[in-house]
Amino acid sequence: MLELPCVVERLELLDPHGARAEQVVEQRIDPLTGTVASVNSALGEKARAFAAGTDEQVLAELEVRSRTGCPFCSAGEKGTRYLPSFAPEGQIRRGRSLAMPNLFGKSRYDSVVIIDTAAHVLRPSQLAPASLQSALLTAVEVLRRVRSAEPALAHHLLGMNFLQPGGSSVPHPHFQLQIRGVPFSAPARILARGAEYRAREGRSYWRDLTEKEQAEKVRWLGRVGPVEWLVAWAPCLQREVWGLLPGVGSLLELDEGAARGFAEGIVKVVSYYESIDNHPFTLAFFSSPQPDQGGAHELQVRICARPGLRATYNNYDTWFAPLLGGDGAHVEIPERYAAELQARW
Ligand SMILES: [Zn+2]
Repeated sequence: MLELPCVVERLELLDPHGARAEQVVEQRIDPLTGTVASVNSALGEKARAFAAGTDEQVLAELEVRSRTGCPFCSAGEKGTRYLPSFAPEGQIRRGRSLAMPNLFGKSRYDSVVIIDTAAHVLRPSQLAPASLQSALLTAVEVLRRVRSAEPALAHHLLGMNFLQPGGSSVPHPHFQLQIRGVPFSAPARILARGAEYRAREGRSYWRDLTEKEQAEKVRWLGRVGPVEWLVAWAPCLQREVWGLLPGVGSLLELDEGAARGFAEGIVKVVSYYESIDNHPFTLAFFSSPQPDQGGAHELQVRICARPGLRATYNNYDTWFAPLLGGDGAHVEIPERYAAELQARW
């Protein structure tokens, strides 16, 4: 069975009162990529207090203030439009979701997919699974049209930033979908490692990981429809949760049931973040550029909590180790928030 490597280090120091203090740090290694998560749970509740959560007053004020002139509430009338040669209807709609070009693109096709133009909601628990599902399927529609128009633009990254500390500039909930001819670095690395594992072991890394987590039950959260959910063993970012679609590698292959499974699971996870005052979050789907790769790569969403929304917030999650060093650091063992999340499955 797959090994989840960990090196335990003890650190000793004299505290300000001269007393000897010892702490235990787990250096957890991601078996696929080799990235390291340093977990020192000694701070416990104190750390939660230090990383003060969302200020309700700031959030309530933003809810009111950001409605005025919100470009996504009025996207149908005032939003951007695709060129007629790509989308004759200008904007691509499904249910209440709407896709349109990002005003400031970062790739040849860079779209905003508004979850629900009528739902200017800034609390994760207010995201409706049905709307998230339709937004995911809208993104897939954009992806398929680009694939059909320009097959060389195979690489895509679908993600979501929620509230300013989550990386968003417009708080009205929306996905962003970038499509280009050049691979996206992190998903490309994951895909390459997964293919190597498959060639070496003759099995899917993701199936091996899921079987291990299902057997151990401590980081395994459960299924929603066909999508399987677990807490990352060696998270790079805070309270990182993954949703995996067994046997399916690409967003191009996403059907209604799987979209619903991702949507419902995402709402469970981000509602949990909200319950611990981490309203902001960031997520991205790692998708194979080509279909029929489900044996080596599984379509997956990676979700992480971001610092609470405050007038002056403490940006504790993007300091030098994760941002430049590539490894995460954590004050809570993943199994603890996994236990809290398990109660929601
Ligand atoms: Zn709005």
